Amino acid sequence: MTTTSQPQPGASVVSAGELISTNPATGEEVARLPVSSAADVKAAVARARAASDWWAQLSWRERRRRLLRWRSLLVQRMQSLAELMHREGGKPVDEALLEIVSAVDHAAWAAKQARKVLGRRRVPGSLMQLEYAGYLEYQPYGVIGVIGPWNFPIFTPFGSIAYALAAGNAVVFKPSEYTPAIGQFYVDAFNEVVPEHPVLQIVHGGGEVGAALCRSGVDKLAFTGSGPTGAKVMAACAESLTPVLIECGGKDAMIVADDADVAKAAETAAWGANFNAGQACVGIERAYVHAKVYDDFVAKLVAETERIDTDTQVGPITMPGQRDIIARHIDSALADGGRALLGGPDSVRGAYVRPTILVDVPHDSAAVREETFGPTIVVTKVASNDEAVTLANDSAYGLGSSVFSKGQGMAIAARLRTGMTAVNSAFAFAVLPELPFGGVGQSGFGRIHGHDGLKEFARAKSIAKRRMPSTPALLTFRRTPAGMKLAMAAVKFLHGRSR
Ligand code: NAD
Repeated sequence: MTTTSQPQPGASVVSAGELISTNPATGEEVARLPVSSAADVKAAVARARAASDWWAQLSWRERRRRLLRWRSLLVQRMQSLAELMHREGGKPVDEALLEIVSAVDHAAWAAKQARKVLGRRRVPGSLMQLEYAGYLEYQPYGVIGVIGPWNFPIFTPFGSIAYALAAGNAVVFKPSEYTPAIGQFYVDAFNEVVPEHPVLQIVHGGGEVGAALCRSGVDKLAFTGSGPTGAKVMAACAESLTPVLIECGGKDAMIVADDADVAKAAETAAWGANFNAGQACVGIERAYVHAKVYDDFVAKLVAETERIDTDTQVGPITMPGQRDIIARHIDSALADGGRALLGGPDSVRGAYVRPTILVDVPHDSAAVREETFGPTIVVTKVASNDEAVTLANDSAYGLGSSVFSKGQGMAIAARLRTGMTAVNSAFAFAVLPELPFGGVGQSGFGRIHGHDGLKEFARAKSIAKRRMPSTPALLTFRRTPAGMKLAMAAVKFLHGRSR
């Protein structure tokens, strides 16, 4: 974040206590929002604490009703929200609309499923302790801090915000400094449907405001962003033993097996590598392609990618500094012996980067090892599907992955060391609300979405209730020798026999 008053396109600027967001394509100002001080963040968390008591004691039904109303309001206003996303983040309007659709679908799922997943239920007891009945429920933490990135400014934060709210928590949200107005838009809409108490609040600013949120006394912090920032968030939260959910970057691979539908694989790779200008944690940045179909795949990928209109379908690079990283990866891939079949060093022009296809790039090149976060893909020929799996798994990251195969898709998917895999598709795991979303290794830990995503924002509360007198009574100093004998006979009968 800069503090000058002449930003380059996309920069976010602080001036006189205001955060100014700008259009990444034109540099035009989009919004001004007040920057929160550390004291403001603490005050927001204190207000959230009081609001969380009220929200948590509402019935499941009432919370569901409010969340579904919020979802409907956003759908009614989705065209304006998509246009704002286009202006502030650069995302093409169609992609923004699809992002909103997925976010509201998740919000509705979380609202409808929360009671079933988290509500109190009777659990089976034990033959050794027949006198006790077990009950399990998942109670809200209280106040959840959410720190979001700019690349999916509604879909990604919703994975935490909507699920945390559905679980009965209040939320204090710090959106990315590059997309503050988008966050403000949906927080304001929530406050129309929950006007009584500040159950969902927003605080604005850069990293220092995120750091203040980590130290503000929230009961859990859900972070989505880059690995280096994730490490800082963990360190800050460790000071107060605040638990964290960490969703970081990726270097997703697509495997194109010998029996793949090559045309579909190429069409999907062209989209998976270039949608949102490649600024997607689950964008396809690598492809490992069986030698039998390699030439066909590469020819089709080039043809598919040539059809893409950079200005209207790819969009600008949102963060000015990212263009240098993309350029460095392309340059080093070529310096390391790679070739550009499309695009190349000249692709990085102004706010836009033209799609680039790289081949023959060594496995240790930055373009293969590091997250590029741009519209580039490195395609590598492999001798077997096994080699494809080995190379795909040889990454510090492990977020999403994609497999194209007519007969072996599920088997290959199971062998990939990633949190999620799409078979004969890309990204699809993110839009099925039942499926947990998250990674392994440098991609982070914990899960948003699905049952696991709801449980991420609640703690298990176990209750064992006596339902009859104990015979024999064991959990007392008044136990008798006869009772002990009976218990030992029972344990030998139940657990002591070899089978
Ligand atoms: P970033 O790490 O620069 O910033 C993320 C957020 O952290 C921003 O709101 C920022 O203000 C805040 N922040 C910065 N310094 C902080 C600090 N010291 N303490 C607390 N908060 C701080 O990431 P970004 O550029 O906004 O987002 C891009 C990254 O996010 C990419 O690596 C991408 O892969 C990743 N991402 C991951 C997922 C996922 O679900 N795994 C989804 C979207 C994006």
